[in-house]
Formats: sequence, structure tokens, C-alpha cells
Amino acid sequence: MRESIHTKSLNFKLWTYFMIFAAIIMILLWLLQIVFINSYYETMKINEIRKIGNELVSIYGTEDFEQQLLEKSFSEGIVINILDQNGSVVYPLDIMDLVRRPRLQSAAFSEFLNKLYITEENFTVYTRSHESLDAETIVYGAILQNENSPNYFLFINTMLEPIDSTVNVLKNQLVIITIISLILSMGLSLFLSRKLSRPITRLTTSAKGLGEGRYDIEFKKGDYLEVDNLADTLNQATSELKKSEELRRDFIANVTHDLKTPLTLIKSYGEMVRDISGDNPEKREAHLNTIIQETDRLSRLVDDMLDLTKVQSELREMKVEKFDILEETNSVLERFSYFREQEGFQISVEAHGDTNIHGDRLKISQAIYNLINNSINYSLLDKKIIINVDGQESRVKFSIKDFGQGILEEEKDYIWDRYYRGGKSHTRKKAGSGIGLSLVKSIVQAHNGQVGVESKAGEGSLFWFILPRNMNE
Ligand code: ADP
Repeated sequence: MRESIHTKSLNFKLWTYFMIFAAIIMILLWLLQIVFINSYYETMKINEIRKIGNELVSIYGTEDFEQQLLEKSFSEGIVINILDQNGSVVYPLDIMDLVRRPRLQSAAFSEFLNKLYITEENFTVYTRSHESLDAETIVYGAILQNENSPNYFLFINTMLEPIDSTVNVLKNQLVIITIISLILSMGLSLFLSRKLSRPITRLTTSAKGLGEGRYDIEFKKGDYLEVDNLADTLNQATSELKKSEELRRDFIANVTHDLKTPLTLIKSYGEMVRDISGDNPEKREAHLNTIIQETDRLSRLVDDMLDLTKVQSELREMKVEKFDILEETNSVLERFSYFREQEGFQISVEAHGDTNIHGDRLKISQAIYNLINNSINYSLLDKKIIINVDGQESRVKFSIKDFGQGILEEEKDYIWDRYYRGGKSHTRKKAGSGIGLSLVKSIVQAHNGQVGVESKAGEGSLFWFILPRNMNE
């Protein structure tokens, strides 16, 4: 398969970076090794000679001096002379020299003196071209102070050897290195980009599948940690998607059923009133009551659905105030007085400690309302409900216990999910939307609290939530 090169692809980017990197290294090498090498070499050499000269000056007058002159001139391959005021060599001298009295060329000597006298330091280093050899030399000069006779001069002279041949060798080598490193970086970038992009391409293919609605797809892990993390996150997202897709389907099935039943009833009772019971006040009243009840049920259902969206968007902006959960519980309970007075429910409230918290009063009361509503809905013959509000050190625990139908073990994990409704076959009395508990959970979590349930099927349930006294601590 031939892939066309895309300038935004990992392949191309890596290749470019590698090339830039190789090019920078090569340019640096060329600059240092070829372009600047002459001046670099000259500076180095001058520093070296200056160091030797200064060392010798510093030991002038000691016994070691002459020995050092000899050693340095041999080991470094340089000419070291001591000159007197006339430029005549006073060291080194052999027997013949006593006769020949060698001295520095007068032009060279006067340049030497000039340089030495205009410098502010007590030595000088300079380059000069040799008259007969056609070569550059480095000259070092310093004054050697004598106590009772005129001063001498230390004169060091060395050739600045031409390094052109070395530069040529280096040039050749650099050309080879440049070619090899360009080829290597091309190969390496290709290899690396393949290796890096393979798992990403694989994830993309899986993601496309997911986009087409295949929720059973699995994101395979790759060869490195970042891809593993991405695959984990995507797998998690897929399973959440799958779950909410299932819930959505269930919800639609439930809601259409729940909407349809009251609508059918309303319609048929309406027809009955029109056709049959219109003249019979007792029957008409009974039928109209059914219509009203069913309408109420419908509007409750719609309210629930609206609540969820509303509360979830409102959770982002909470109105935090200090309030008493116990007081709030009692005021919510007032809305259930019908069940206590007419349906025989016994609802008791126990409280301990300080039950004040900082939180969104309206939302917490909505959570309490939903829990009480569920306990009433799912109670069977035993219509006892016990509410406990327990103020602990830094938190308040609310719990509500009923003795109703309870929850199957396998359902416990799902009841908090949006749209989940227990026991697929719903009795009409318990027609709900599956939203109540998911609301409770969202509200409590928005307050940094926890929710939970303890229950045994057939024996009843205990729902609880714990809120920190101060939600931001
Ligand atoms: P709804 O009550 O509208 O179905 P909820 O989210 O309030 O939705 O509850 C989800 C499910 O949890 C219910 O369908 C029910 O099966 C179970 N449930 C909730 N509260 C209780 C309770 N007190 N006792 C037994 N089951 C409960």
C-alpha cells in the first residue's frame, strides 16, 4: 500500500525534525572544523606560547631557569633566545657563537622592541611572517629584569604550521559523515514514525467503528504507555456509551408505555363520560376523577424528565447557604401528609447532633423528596418509614428506611443510573421515570457527598447520603 506523504503526518514531522537536527549538528561541525579552525588554532597556539613565556619569566633568576629553557624548547619544539639590548643572542651560545656573535635581524629586533614597549603588560605576543621562509610565525617577547646590568629580553619564536592538509582531510570526513547522518536520520525517522503511528492508526480505525454505532468494539493497547492510557479511556467511554444507549432504549420503551397507558385511559374515560355517564353524576364523578389522576400522573412524569435536565444544568451554579437538614426534612414531609393521613403511612423522624450544613437548600430538599417518594412508592403492606438525620463531626448523614419490596442484589449497581427502573415489569402504581435516584446522586455528588443503599429483596431498603458540613472542604 502506498501512502501519500501528508505534511501534517507524524511521519513527515518526525522526518523534518530529524533532518533539522542533523543539519544543525553538521553546520556546527563545519563551522568549527573548517571555517574557524585557522583562527581557533592560532589563538590556541598563541595562548600556549604566552603561557610558556610567562612561566619562564616568573622563574628568571632562579637556578632552575636555564634547565627549563632547554626543556621547554625541546619538548615544545620552539626557539627560545635570550637577547641583550642590542639584539645579540646571549643564550643559547656554543663555542663558535662567541666568535660569530649572532644577533637578531635589526628590522625584526626593532619591531620586537616596539611591540614590547607599547604594550601595557610586561610581555607581548604577535604573529609575523618570516622573511625567507614564507611562513607565519608567533613571536613572544618579555623583559627580563637584571639588577646591576642592563635588562635582557626573552624571545620565543615558533612556526604557525599550515593546517590546510588537515582541513582537507576533515572536509572529506565531514562530507561522508553528513551523508551517513542524513541517511541514518531519514531511516530512523521512518522507523520511529511507523512505530509511533501504528497503534494510533489502530485506535483511529476502532474509533471509526464506534462512530458507526458498534459499541462492542475494543480499543487495543499499543506499545507505549500513552497509547495504553488512551485505549483505557476510550474503552471506558465506550462502555459508558453502551450503558447509556441501553438505558436510552429502556427509557424510551418505558416512557412510551408509561405515557401511552394514561393517555389511553384518559381517552376512554373521556368517551365514557361523553357517551354513557354524562347524566349520571356519581359515575361521571368517578370517571372524571380517574381522568384527573391520570393527567396528574402524566404531568409528574414529564416534570421528572424536565427536572433531570434542569437540575443537571443548574448543578453548575449552586446557591450555597447555611440551613438545617432536619428542618428541611420536616418541611418536605408536609407535602406527603396525604399519605400519612389517608394511606396509613407512619413516617417518623429521628435526629442527633448539629444538623446544619452549607449547601444548596432547594436541591438537597429535592433529593430528600425523591428518597421519601421512593420509600412510599416501594412500600408494600408494612407502611412504616424511619428517617434519621445524624449530625456528625464534620458531616451530616441522612438515611431513610422502609420495609417494602427491597432491591435485588444484581440491581443495586444500576438503580442510580439515569432512566434505570428496577423489575422490568412495572405495576401501574409504581410508574416512575427512573430518574429520581440519578438526580439524588447528582445533587449529592455536586456537594462532594456520598450516596448508598443497603437492602434485601422482600425486607426493605435503607437509602442514605452523607454531606460534608462545608461542601468545599
Ligand atoms: P423510579 O422510582 O422512577 O423508577 P428511581 O431512579 O427513583 O426511579 O429509582 C430507580 C429504581 O430503584 C426503581 O425503579 C426501583 O426499582 C428502585 N428503588 C428505588 N427506591 C427504592 C426503594 N425505596 N425500595 C425498593 N426499590 C427502590
